[in-house]
Order: sequence, then structure tokens, then C-alpha cells
Amino acid sequence: MDAAVALPITAGPDEVLRTVFGLRGFRGQQEAVISHVMDGGDAIVLMPTGGGKSLCYQLPAMCRPGLGIIVSPLIALMRNQVAAMRQLGVNAAALNSAISAEERGRIWDDLRADRLDLLYVAPERLMIPDFLDFLSGRQVSLIAIDEAHCVSQWGHDFRKEYLMLAELKERFPGVPRVALTATADVQSRAEIRQRLALEGAEMFISSFDRPNIRYNITPKASPMRQLLAFLKTHEGESGIVYCLSRNAVEETAAALNNHGIKALPYHAKLPPNTRAANQDAFLAGEEALVLVATIAFGMGIDKPDVRFVVHMDLPGSLEAFYQETGRAGRDGAPAETLLLYGMQDLMLRKKMITDGEAPEEVKRVELGKMESLLGVCETAGCRRQAILSCFGEILPEPCGNCDSCITPAETWDATTPARKALSAMLRTGQRFGVGHLVDVLLGVETEKTTRFGHDKLPTFGVGKELDKKAWQSLFRQLAARGVVETDHDQYGALVMTQAGRPILRGEEQIHLRRDVKVRVSKRADRAFAAGGDTALFEVLRQERARIAKEQKVPAYVIFHDATLAAIAEAKPSSLAALGEVPGIGRSKLERYGETILAALAQAAA
Ligand code: ADP
Ligand code: ZN
Repeated sequence: MDAAVALPITAGPDEVLRTVFGLRGFRGQQEAVISHVMDGGDAIVLMPTGGGKSLCYQLPAMCRPGLGIIVSPLIALMRNQVAAMRQLGVNAAALNSAISAEERGRIWDDLRADRLDLLYVAPERLMIPDFLDFLSGRQVSLIAIDEAHCVSQWGHDFRKEYLMLAELKERFPGVPRVALTATADVQSRAEIRQRLALEGAEMFISSFDRPNIRYNITPKASPMRQLLAFLKTHEGESGIVYCLSRNAVEETAAALNNHGIKALPYHAKLPPNTRAANQDAFLAGEEALVLVATIAFGMGIDKPDVRFVVHMDLPGSLEAFYQETGRAGRDGAPAETLLLYGMQDLMLRKKMITDGEAPEEVKRVELGKMESLLGVCETAGCRRQAILSCFGEILPEPCGNCDSCITPAETWDATTPARKALSAMLRTGQRFGVGHLVDVLLGVETEKTTRFGHDKLPTFGVGKELDKKAWQSLFRQLAARGVVETDHDQYGALVMTQAGRPILRGEEQIHLRRDVKVRVSKRADRAFAAGGDTALFEVLRQERARIAKEQKVPAYVIFHDATLAAIAEAKPSSLAALGEVPGIGRSKLERYGETILAALAQAAA
């Protein structure tokens, strides 16, 4: 690992931002958070993924005297953060089980000599009593608790070790504590305050909007074909495809490779070596790669240039959907997401919640979160407005960057067909699934309709005004709205809920969204704006790949795409000019300045 460059001890946040990070100014709430923490205050920082949370603790930790402790749940996350900080010339280290004895020895030497700026550590490691005793005797600049929503038992990232962190308040009196999360969930916010003993902390809430992400949500018809059509518009880019099951992950990855799209699987049952290798290949970003994964792949994926996220199945809640799609476009450049969902998924998800072990009140909350997501799926309006409103944020105008805004969905008066559908359910004893009910409505004679005498029912064949697809869509939307649900005892059988009665009686009208095909954006709309000079951008990309390989770090740790694009545009011919490019601080200029200038000169020759 490279040697760290000593920092001038007296530097303030503005100066460090410029000289060390090579950035020109703060974003959003960063400045407010940093000045609050510099003054010794505790803070809870809620910022969307890609919002720039890291600076909120890195800067005060570097500018206040003493060691900054950063609690982080994942080794992979620590490793990349440490690599990135060291590239900036900051003395950062991570204590975890993955490091060598030699490295551990060096970290301890640095700790004893007060030479370390930032220490990344997992909660269970930090809370070892001897270690806490040791740290209590040193000067600590701040304690940051990253991914703070891990204290929330309602969320899917709960880690019980996080609960121990409340003790830090007593252990380190006077040391500012900063909890950070990208979880927009209102419930988690209250829990973070309470469970981390941050009663007096100031809360900094940023908008959770991710304007560079384009949302597409569409009914699942033939998923593989839909996926391929989407990926066609993302050639040469890296992204994530989420599937619900390990089998689906394996099959989808294999199918993509058969279609000439390089894809790797990732799920909990892969041998640890393979899993790590696949993750590393994806994070390294040396070539376009699709990572097909279960949600086991996710938290702490800080790869900034994930260009797309696809959900082949419905996620468990709106929060999960938002967090998973949020992994796209952290660098702020355009990114796109696609969610395919169908009746089966919807029923399966509801069943997973109702059949789960959780107490009743937890199940109620989970069903509510699931229904928020279904509401977003079925809205005929702007997706972003619908999503943000679930997080208590009002977007005054439709966003213009979601499928609904780009291709407005039509609604239609479905009152009469809905009544026919409900009636077909009731007359068949609420014991059948969608397939059979559609057969009844369309008057299709099958072995089943004959066996149960359903071909004699007055509803048999009353629904010929719609085709099979339209009926399936109608049932899905009725389920999404909670008008019908699946019977707990007979899997797949539909029953009517209380909400169905007024519709059946004709007292309430129902308007549904007409299914439209997603028109995925043309690649040209989204191509990375490399100042027009894509050839030069490519040259720089290769140079970056070479350096990254040499240093054994992911490419983005060396330079972000945006930095390369800025270099390609500025075409600097001196070190001084290169140093003016955003994203190039002192340390990177020293390390790579000459190499980059040489590559530019060669490309120009
Ligand atoms: P988060 O942890 O909130 O997801 P990061 O801290 O990883 O976000 O920052 C996301 C990206 O934004 C990074 O590439 C980072 O370099 C960049 N960034 C953060 N703050 C600024 C800033 N003030 N100016 C320019 N880029 C920034
Ligand atoms: Zn929109």
C-alpha cells in the first residue's frame, strides 16, 4: 500500500476540500453538517445514495485533532473507502478479519503513535472492551456511524451489533457522533436517534430525489425478452440485475452469456471465492459487466458508475426498491432502472410477509410498505412524484424523467369489467386463481371449467370485450389495490376483500392504468458527456485501467468517469492546468499527473 502524505495540521475544511479532494465546493447540506460537527455537535445525516455523505465525516475527522473512527458494517466497503482515502494521501486504515498480520501490526503501531487520521472498523470489533479502553485513552476527533439504519429492526439490513453502539455516548463524552444513512424510511429515522443515543443530535435531511435516475416500471410479460430489449440500450455499460431466487440468478446469468452479454452471478450459496471474485470483477469496472444477483448483493456497493439496475421480480417494499435502484448513478451521470412485476410476484411477496415469523404489528407495517410500492407500480402519474410522496416529500411538477412522464399512461373506466371479475370469483366459490377465472370470463372450455360445471355459470363468457392480457392486468391491479387478495390456505386462489363490495354493488367506480410498453430511451440520450471527445475519453479510461491494475484497486478509486470526462474536455497541457480539473487533488496530481499528461500528449500526436 502506498505511503500517506502528511497533511498540514492547521488546514480547515474548505482548504482540505480543495487541496486533498480536488473539489471546488460543497454540495447540499455538506457544509452545514461539517460546520456543526467541527463545533463538536452530534448529527444525524439523511442523504440519498450518491449525495456525498462520506465528506460529512471525513472532512471534520481530518480537520479536528485526533483519530476519526468510522463504524461500517461491511469489509468490502471499508476496503474501498480506505483505498480511496489513501489515494488522496490520507492515513486511513481498516481493522478487520481480512487484513494480514503484518498490516495489523502496522495499524497498531500507527494507532499507538497517534499517526492515523481515519480508522474504519466493524461495530463488533470496535465494541470489544479492551479496544474501547485503549481508544478512550487517545484523542478521538469524531465517531461516524455509517449505514446507521442497521439499528432498525424494521429494515432488511438490521444488525444486532449496531445496538451496542449506544454505549459510545458514555464512552466518548464530548466526541461528536455522526450517524449517516440513505434510508428514506421515516420510521428508521426515529429509531436511529433513539437506539444510538443521539437524542440531542441535529438532523440534516436532504431531498431524497435522485434526478439522474430514470424509472421504468412495467408488467412482466416475457421477462427475458424484456430484459434483453432493455440491455440493448445499455451496451458497453455495467449494471445490476436483481432476481428473487438463486435459481433465477443462475439461469438469467447463463441466458445473458448465451446472448453474448457478459454476466456473472452473485448469491449467498456460491462458494465464497467465486462470490468474492465476481464481486471484485464487477467493482473493478475494467469492462462492461452485468452482475445478476439476489439482494445479498447490495449494501455498501459504492461503485459510482453503475449505469442501470433491473428488478426481474417485485422487491419487498418501496424502501427496498428505492435503496436497490439507488445503487445506479451515484456519480450523478444519467442512469436507468427497470422493474418487471406480475401477479405471481405480488402474491408471493404478500405471502412471504403474512407467513413470516414476524409479530402481527411488524407484518402490518411490512404490508403497508409493500402496498406503497404497488401504488407506485400502478400509478398513471409520475413515478418520482409517487415515490417521493411516500417518503413525505412533495415534488411540485412531474419529473419528465420516468416512463409515465415520457409515455403518459392512459386510464380507463374499468368498473363494469371489475364487477364481472368479482362476480366470477364469487360464483366459483373464491377457490380459483387468475388463469381459471380468465378462462371463465372469456368462455374458454377447458377440462377444469367442465369438471366444476363452470361452463354453466351466468358469468361464463361474459367478458369477451377484453382479451386475456387485459383481464390478467385487471386482476393484477385489483390485487395491487387490495380489492382482491390470495386465500391464505389455498395458494393462488383469489378472494374478495371488503374493498370489493362497493365496486361489486356498483356504488364505486374504478379507473385503471392501461398497460403500455416501456419505450426505453435511446443510448444517445444518455451517452456519457465526455466533452464530445469519446476517443480521448477511451484513451484515458485505458490508462486508468492500467494504473488501477497496478495498484490493485477498483478503477473508480483512481479517477471517476466524470473526472476523466473533464480531463478529456479540458485537454490540459501542464500539471497546473490538470490540477484545476475537478476531482484532482494534490496527491493524485503528484502520483498520476505526469502519466496523464503523457497519455494526452501521445493521443494528440
Ligand atoms: P454517499 O456515501 O452519500 O452515497 P459519496 O460520499 O460516496 O456518497 O459521494 C458520492 C459521489 O459524489 C462521490 O463520487 C464523491 O466524490 C462525489 N462528491 C461528494 N461531495 C462532492 C462535492 N462537494 N463536489 C463534487 N463531488 C462530490
Ligand atoms: Zn416522472
